[in-house]
Amino acid sequence: MMKDSLLSVAYLAASALFILSLRGLSSQETARRGNSYGAIGMVIALLATLFASSPSGYAILAGTIAIGAVVGAFVAARVAMTSMPELVAILHSFVGAAAVLVGIAAYVDPALSAHATSRTVHLVEIFVGVWIGAITLTGSVIAFAKLRGNLSGKPLLLPGRHFINLGMLVASIILGVLFVAAPDHSGMMSLLLMTAVALVMGVHLVVAIGGADMPVVVSVLNSYSGWAAAAAGFMLENDLLIVTGALVGSSGAILSYIMCKAMNRSIWNVIFGGFGTQSGAAPAAGSSSGGGQVWTGSVDQVKDLLLAARSVIVVPGYGMAVARAQHPLHELIMLLKKRGAKCRYAIHPVAGRLPGHMNVLLAEANVPYDIVLEMEEIDHDFKDTDVVLVVGANDIVNPAALDDPSSPIYGMPVLHAWEAKTVVFLKRGMAAGYAGIDNPLFYRENTMMLFGDARDSIDKVLNAVKAG
Ligand code: NDP
Repeated sequence: MMKDSLLSVAYLAASALFILSLRGLSSQETARRGNSYGAIGMVIALLATLFASSPSGYAILAGTIAIGAVVGAFVAARVAMTSMPELVAILHSFVGAAAVLVGIAAYVDPALSAHATSRTVHLVEIFVGVWIGAITLTGSVIAFAKLRGNLSGKPLLLPGRHFINLGMLVASIILGVLFVAAPDHSGMMSLLLMTAVALVMGVHLVVAIGGADMPVVVSVLNSYSGWAAAAAGFMLENDLLIVTGALVGSSGAILSYIMCKAMNRSIWNVIFGGFGTQSGAAPAAGSSSGGGQVWTGSVDQVKDLLLAARSVIVVPGYGMAVARAQHPLHELIMLLKKRGAKCRYAIHPVAGRLPGHMNVLLAEANVPYDIVLEMEEIDHDFKDTDVVLVVGANDIVNPAALDDPSSPIYGMPVLHAWEAKTVVFLKRGMAAGYAGIDNPLFYRENTMMLFGDARDSIDKVLNAVKAG
């Protein structure tokens, strides 16, 4: 009894810490604290579960936790920020696998409720948990392979794929009815067959999506993994797992919604649309194109522009992450600030390849939070700005989103960089970004292109500014 109430208190504390953690993670000033709340909540949850369970398995548990902790710490310490989506994807597959295994174990458990009504509810929980878990498992593995480039990013669109999905859904429902109706433990065959169908369904759903859409798919799978965990919580009658699963499930769903909204896409368009399939090819560097002539600048010209500028806004994008240019960039900005220029960073909600991508990189370079502004806080200031430095960004400053109804990104909110006196693009060539489309801003009169790897270019500009 005493043990039960202690367990409830511990679970309640862990749940509260998880909620505080999510709250902390919503802003970069409090993100570290939020992370610590989450870690403390997890330690409490683990210890409470350990002490509440039978002592016979302690050695196995301790060994498993130790291996998991070492592998987790090693992987987390080594992962590059640009590889974060693939790490998250593979971790979701573990949650899916756990839900499948817990579901099958719950079914073979001799204590499976004998009471007719609660037995039916329990069987439905097992079935749904295993189903979502299996889809999450293989879907996440495919997302991981696509993000790593082990699998082609091209969507594999089988003829009649919607019917194939529908067929698998109907087969799952029929197997579910057979499973629930089966007496005693004789529904195992239906459960395993459904697991096989759901595993194939996870593969089929995700191979049909373009590689470039994987970050949103990972967020959707994140949501699935939460619901799979919540279902496992119902199976095990574990309140904490239900709360945690619901938190992950709903936050993943909200995040997917926010990402889609910031890209002006519907979630159905992401999941079924085959967007992001273009190769991203655009005219070669320095050439004129359908879009017009580009102004190719030099390091010295950029240095002169910056030294003369009273106000500078940096727009960082995916290319800054690839080039790891945030450290010298910060040094350059601090130097310009010291010389009296007003310098700020403008963060688009989907800059880079994962939510908060730029904020994390800038925090890593110790950029003060008060000069890092969200799109709505700074968008009106471009018109009073002398120089906008677009560092490895592209789609998020594409004016076609505002004025070209035929553009695939038409309607997506973008930063109004072109309103500044001069826009300087730091990128390697004329290649398109994630959306695979040309950017009319490259060809405007007030746009200068500084071609080269962003880190190289920034290093050179920094040295030139220091010297001059
Ligand atoms: P983009 O993908 O539009 O453009 C990135 C640009 O960086 C490319 O045009 C590339 O040009 C350049 N680049 C690549 N490597 C380097 C390098 N080493 N040095 C300099 N430049 C480099 O990035 P944005 O950040 O502008 O936009 C993000 C896009 O990703 C949006 O379309 C968004 O919808 C999408 N997205 C974002 C998600 C998120 O959560 N943040 C999730 C899913 C999608 P070049 O090759 O010529 O150098």
